[in-house]
Amino acid sequence: MSLLRSWRRRRLLARESIPDSIWAEVVAGLPTLDRLEGSARERLREQTLVFIREKTLVPAGGLALTEAMRVRIAALACLPVLELGLDCYDDVLSVVVYPDEFIVPDRETVDEAGVVHVGDDVLSGEAWEQGPVVLSWKDVEASGLGEGFNVVAHEFAHKLDLLDGVFDGMPPLHREMRTGAWITAFQSAYDDLVRRLERGQETWLDPYAAEEPAEFFAVCTELFFDVPAEFRAEYPAVYAQLAAFFRQDPAQGD
Ligand SMILES: [Zn+2]
Repeated sequence: MSLLRSWRRRRLLARESIPDSIWAEVVAGLPTLDRLEGSARERLREQTLVFIREKTLVPAGGLALTEAMRVRIAALACLPVLELGLDCYDDVLSVVVYPDEFIVPDRETVDEAGVVHVGDDVLSGEAWEQGPVVLSWKDVEASGLGEGFNVVAHEFAHKLDLLDGVFDGMPPLHREMRTGAWITAFQSAYDDLVRRLERGQETWLDPYAAEEPAEFFAVCTELFFDVPAEFRAEYPAVYAQLAAFFRQDPAQGD
């Protein structure tokens, strides 16, 4: 981290903090934060403030973005990088927030036969390569409730995945991690999901995770933070890799 940046952050945190009433309201609305101990929660509060000051949160589609809404978005975005640091999100200069699911018109997709289709996509979130994260507020409100859904963790997981420039479901791993162990854990879980879906079986994971490995990683990140104990029970090897990557063990004690 550059000296200037760390000095700026220290100065910000010395002078300012998220108002108690707003922080209390946001924490009360995010059961996913319950497991954080006091000191971790305080660090999250600081990171959340830095996030709000360093990134631009842009309301779109007529949305009025209150301070509590900004804090909720920032806290959900900061949770995955609590032990990694905000610099992981250097690429995210802004977060655009729509009131509800938004339509991306004329999206080009290429199917398995190589045919290009153009159509409108309805999305609850989107992460652009070298660009903003786009979110639907309605989906942000449904995130972090301990119900297995977290659009903010999902989109920011895509950003972490893209840190090495490749959208493949594998972010740059820490030195102490083993690439082979990551690939084995994710590949077998992904292949198993695809197989079950091909057989028409009900799956614990959202079938969307089978779209491609990058979506699998993003969906697993949502569950890792939102329903960690259930996720660990279903996917112990993937859980272990995510715990090593995020340097958090959210199911601990469950
Ligand atoms: Zn996605």
